[in-house]
Amino acid sequence: ISMDDPIEEHRICVCVRKRPLNKQERLKKECDVITVPSKNVLLVHEPKLKVDLTKYLENQAFKFDYSFDETASNEMVYRFTARPLVQTIFEGGKATCFAYGQTGSGKTHTMGGDFSGRAQNASKGIYAFASRDVFLLQNQSRYRNLSLEVYVTFFEIYNGKVFDLLNKKAKLRVLEDGKQQVQVVGLQEHQVSCAEDVIRMIEMGSACRTSGQTFANSSSSRSHACFQILLRRRGKLHGKFSLVDLAGNERGADTSSADRQTRMEGAEINKSLLALKECIRALGQNKSHTPFRESKLTQVLRDSFIGSNSRTCMIAMISPGMSSCEYTLNTLRYADRVKEL
Ligand code: ADP
Ligand code: MG
Repeated sequence: ISMDDPIEEHRICVCVRKRPLNKQERLKKECDVITVPSKNVLLVHEPKLKVDLTKYLENQAFKFDYSFDETASNEMVYRFTARPLVQTIFEGGKATCFAYGQTGSGKTHTMGGDFSGRAQNASKGIYAFASRDVFLLQNQSRYRNLSLEVYVTFFEIYNGKVFDLLNKKAKLRVLEDGKQQVQVVGLQEHQVSCAEDVIRMIEMGSACRTSGQTFANSSSSRSHACFQILLRRRGKLHGKFSLVDLAGNERGADTSSADRQTRMEGAEINKSLLALKECIRALGQNKSHTPFRESKLTQVLRDSFIGSNSRTCMIAMISPGMSSCEYTLNTLRYADRVKEL
């Protein structure tokens, strides 16, 4: 993959990113079943058994706008996915970037980055790179005279309820007025003027998201997190970039769990991911049957799916291990369905 800036003309961009095998997987000598032979093809080598019980690999090929192997950095992924959308919000449009995939596949690493190691080895994610480029464009001559102000919001959708990650997880109400305008009441917008301001917000919101959860009962895998960059011109909304770290898609299968709460959450996740797929596919087409209201996620993002100047990008994250193969195939099939017709 060259570092040349891609030219993205279409509204929907669907990419896939494979993370490296982690330490535990290497210790367990887990097989890597994914190869990336070219910049837009990805192969899954699924182990299968013949009738006579001999083993063989069934190779399945998937084609995407870009496929990133385990050597790709967050910045590289950013350049080919969210970066081409930054200009959209300066032109007065709406942009959305989703990270989709199984828990542990790298969604949060890609979107939010990893600040847990503190200053030196902190790695930036798409939230930070997109914000950096927003400040760059804000000061470019062609946009400077618009006097745009930059704000960020950061919220979580958990079991159909919205919580403000920049305000101690305050529970927020979602209202739809008669003109189908959706409003998240009380969501705090924080004005930011430099990249460092944004990093502080990301750190604050990420800490808030994971607070009070144990590894075994991680609620972050069951919630969608949405970081938004808003451009305002004399107070009026000019453009909006929503960067969404989705709930783990394997959670959508929790619908037969013995635990009622888990079952309900699973059903809600399932519903929201299905609605999301349909809404993306309907992007900009002004279809009458787009299922915005089927889930809180699509309801809140409604205005980003309609209008002629809306663009979206999905990054499907996959774990390379053989034990994840079934979920990996589910992820790839979903991403395949999201692609423009
Ligand atoms: P998810 O949000 O999808 O559940 P995470 O982003 O938390 O997954 O990733 C799980 C673990 O794998 C984290 O420790 C993360 O740092 C690591 N990881 C994910 N993607 C990569 C990558 N591309 N390179 C190195 N480490 C990664
Ligand atoms: Mg995560």
